[in-house]
Amino acid sequence: MFRFEGMKNLESLIKTYKNFPKQGIAFKDVLGIIQDAEVFRELILKMASNNIVKNSEAIISIEARGFIFGSAISFQASKPMLVARKPGKLPGELIQEKYNLEYGEDSLYIQKEAIKKFNSYLIIDDILATGGTAQCVANLIYKNGSDVSGLLTVVELIDLDGRSKFDFPVESILKI
Ligand code: AMP
Repeated sequence: MFRFEGMKNLESLIKTYKNFPKQGIAFKDVLGIIQDAEVFRELILKMASNNIVKNSEAIISIEARGFIFGSAISFQASKPMLVARKPGKLPGELIQEKYNLEYGEDSLYIQKEAIKKFNSYLIIDDILATGGTAQCVANLIYKNGSDVSGLLTVVELIDLDGRSKFDFPVESILKI
C-alpha cells in the first residue's frame, strides 16, 4: 500500500543545481530519492504498478540514472530489462544512434543480439527534458524492427514539452 504523504516528499528530495553542467541549465539531482529508502520504495512500487509497465513486454533503461529506477522497476514487475549505454561501455555487436541533449550531443548503443529478443519495449529514464535521449532510444528500437510501448520517467520538465515528440504513451510521476 502506498503512503502518499511519503510521495509528497519526492520533490523536496530533488535538489536543483543552477548552471550545471553548463551555464543556463538547472540540473535536477534525483540521487536524493535513493537516499530515502522509504520514498524510493514507494516510488518504485508506484511506477511498477503503472499499466504502462504491466502491459509492457520488456524494458530498456538509459545510462546511468535510468538504470537505478529501471532495474528496480523490472525486478518488482518481473520484466526483462536491456540497457542503452554511452560510447565504449558495451561489448559485442552494437547498434548506435546519435542524439542532442538539453546540454550537449552524445550517442547511445544497444547490443544487437539482446534487442532481437523482444518485439516491444518500454523506455525508462530518470528525467524527461527535451525528449532527445528517449527519442534516440526509440530510434534504436525502431532500427531493430521492434515497437516502443511507452516512456516512463520519474521527473518530467514540463516547460520543455518533451512528450510532444512522441506518438507513444508517456507517463511521469513528478511534473515540474
Ligand atoms: P532530454 O534528452 O533532454 O530529455 O534529457 C534527458 C536526459 O538527460 C536524462 O537522462 C536526464 O538524466 C538528463 N537531463 C536532461 N536535463 C536534465 C536536467 N535539467 N537535470 C538533470 N538531468 C537532466
